[in-house]
Parts: sequence; C-alpha cells; structure tokens
Amino acid sequence: MIRTRFAPSPTGMPHLGHLRTCAYAYALAKHSQGDFVLRVEDTDRKRYVPEAVEIIKNMVSNFGMKWDEYYVQSERAQKGIYKKAAEKLVEQGYAFYCQCSARDAKHEGYSDVLRDPCRDKKFKEGAIKIRIPDNEKITYHDFVFDKDITWDSNTIFDATLLKSKDLEELPTYHLAATLDDHEMEITHVLRGYDWMPSTPIHLLVYKYLGYKPPEIGHLTDIQSIEGGKLSKRKGSTSIQQLEKEGYLKEAIFNFTILLGWAPKDNRELFSLEDFVETFDPKGFQKANPVFNRQKLDWFNGYYIRQKTDDQLVQLIEPFAPKNADVSLINQTIHLIKDRIAKLSDYPSFSGFFFQEPVVDKSLFIDQAADQLSQALVVLKALDNWNKEEIEATLKELINKNGWQTGDFFMNLRIAVTGSKFTPPITDSVAILGKEKTLERLITCLK
Ligand code: GLU
Repeated sequence: MIRTRFAPSPTGMPHLGHLRTCAYAYALAKHSQGDFVLRVEDTDRKRYVPEAVEIIKNMVSNFGMKWDEYYVQSERAQKGIYKKAAEKLVEQGYAFYCQCSARDAKHEGYSDVLRDPCRDKKFKEGAIKIRIPDNEKITYHDFVFDKDITWDSNTIFDATLLKSKDLEELPTYHLAATLDDHEMEITHVLRGYDWMPSTPIHLLVYKYLGYKPPEIGHLTDIQSIEGGKLSKRKGSTSIQQLEKEGYLKEAIFNFTILLGWAPKDNRELFSLEDFVETFDPKGFQKANPVFNRQKLDWFNGYYIRQKTDDQLVQLIEPFAPKNADVSLINQTIHLIKDRIAKLSDYPSFSGFFFQEPVVDKSLFIDQAADQLSQALVVLKALDNWNKEEIEATLKELINKNGWQTGDFFMNLRIAVTGSKFTPPITDSVAILGKEKTLERLITCLK
C-alpha cells in the first residue's frame, strides 16, 4: 500500500511549490487507494510562524485534499523519540556530541566544517551530529528523475541531528523527517529540489537506524518567466495572494499540477478527482517548468465561464466596488463572464455601473458633440427602456445622419462609461437605466 506525506514547515505562507508537492503526494497515494499523511515539521523554532499551521491546513483542505493522518513534530518531540534515536546513534558510534556554539553552524542542521572538530572529543553532552564516514559512495534511485544519484561521502558535512539543551534538544529536519518517515511507514517521499543536499544525510540516518529508506523523488524547480527560480521577489506565488488577485482555486490547482507533470495525452483540464484518477508518476517531467501567468489567466477564464451566474455573483462580490448593490452585480454578470480573466478584472469592466465615471474628453472621436446631443434627444423620448428599443432607436439615428456606426457607439461608450473597453454598450445602457444614462450624456455635453 502506498503511503505518502506532505511535510511542510510552518515558516511562512504556502505558495505554489507547496501546493504542487502536496497535490503530487496526494495523487500518488490516492490513485491506488493509499494513505496521505499531513505532517507539520515545526522543529525549527526560530523560523516558526504560528499562524502558518492553520493556513497550511486550510490550503490542503480548501483544495479538496483530505489527510488520513495528521502529526505535529514538536508534539512528537515531547515524547523523547528523536532524542532517544540520536542517543542510540551516539552509542553505536554513528554520531557524536558537539559543543561548538550554535553560531558556528551555517544554518539549521548543517555544519560549518566538513569534519566537525568535536567528532573525536568523546563529549558526553551537547548537540548530536552525524559522523559521516570517509570514502563511501551514497546512492539512491530518484523516482521523479528516474535515475541513480550518487554522492561521495567525503563531500558531505557532519550535520546536526539533535540540537543542544538551550535549543530544547529538538531534532533537526534530518533526524525528524527520517525517523517519522519510517515510523509513519511512508513508502514514497516527494519534495522540492532544494532538499537534494539533505538526501545523502538522510540515507545514512536511515541506514544507521536500521531502516529501509522509502522511495525518494525530488521535484523540479519552478522557473520564473524572466529566468531563474521562482521566488517572492519575482512576483506573487503565495496561494493567498493569488486568490486575492482574483484567481479561482480550480484554476490555481489545474495550473499548478501541470508545472512538472503531464498526462500521456495532451489533456489540459483537470479537477482534483481527474488528476487522482489519471496520475502516473511516469508523467513527472525532468525539465524545469516555467510559471507562465498567461497560462494561469487562461485556466482562470475557463473556470470562470464554468460557473453558474449565481456562483459567479458570489465570487465577484468581494471584488466589486464597495457597497455595490448585489442585484446590480447580478444583472451585469452575463455581460462580463466571457470577458474577464480574473475576478479582480470586474471593476475595470463594470465599475461604471456603480459609480459616475470620470470622462477624459480627449478620447472622443469625430462629431461627438453632435452625436451625443442627438442621442440625448431620442433616448429621452424613449418610453420602453430595453436593449432592443435602445438599439433600434440609435440605429435609426445613425442611419438618418449617415454616421459611422463604430464611431457613434465609441463616443456613446466613452460618455456613459468613461472607458473604451466595456461590455456591449447597448446592453450596458439598458442595465444602467434611463435616468443615469441621460445624466451622463448631459454631463459630457456641458
Ligand atoms: N519540511 C520541509 C519543507 O518545509 C519538507 C521536506 C520534506 O518533505 O522532506 O519543505
């Protein structure tokens, strides 16, 4: 039975890379009715962001993924399991106590020097570090890249496994992840490429603890379109931020799972259920995928159009102008549904329904004053204010004067909406109502 885990560290807001790792681990397990474990790796207390735990859990469940088991490493640490394992490794000679100050460590779990000065000092307490053997080849088969990867042990640092007393004797990632993967009977580990340097250390820990290592696969790095690895500096990749920008979950999900995985056919549209059903680890791609926002916009537009008008009204509400009348949003929805790529595009397409536009008169084209004043007269005389009547009346006016249809409607559009890009203008005028339309024409003619 396949058992996978998503093991985020709550050090910040979840981003696309987290969602991708989680979705792949979930699909790998669920494709064959296996188990999916959510494990919070919170033993790095310096970088711990308490609210991140809930946000990560919400991300997993909001995207529809249900975990079968849930663990928190800091809680497990209270039972002393990691400490016991580390001490056992010291007893067996695979690890040693180190009394260098934490300042000397480059960063969490990694040593500064290849061979630690404390390794043969036989201290009886301190942080516990792994004694990396000399002249060994450390190899595993990466199931994502589908190839063997080998390190020379002489290039691997004596990494920290258990922190010293002043750091609460908490395990580092290297010890906690390996022990947990074993105890939780994880069969397949999937994680980001940046964790590759940890893998030889983990392989030794598994070996020294007498455990069979799970299958391990590293996921490709998502590249930004300007080149280089996608990062906060290169635009928003946080899931929360993307949702704030008006991207739907369905679109974010569909876009993300195709960053590094592809089905056998060229199919592009996947819900979570479709993805689980179709998932095949052979579909992992070896080249780094590129975060292409246009593609994300395309998915978003697609999923927006799959919504019913009622669903879309609800989704649009937070993006509509402040205090916007919901029934007005309702009336406008069918006009913008095919036009917006993001929910946040709504105000730029339909803000004029809710507030008086600022009209830049330099946008008007030929004969605007004549056209608008005559339009005002015929529209004022109109009794039945609906799209068909409005259209027929204006067409008659255009024909009578021999105006260019496109020019006339552009001038009307600018006068009523303040913009050159709006939903169809006669539909818009019909929804806006007679009073407001006439008022706006009068304002423009002043
Ligand atoms: N805790 C690591 C992270 O936050 C996960 C590494 C792993 O999956 O082994 O990315």
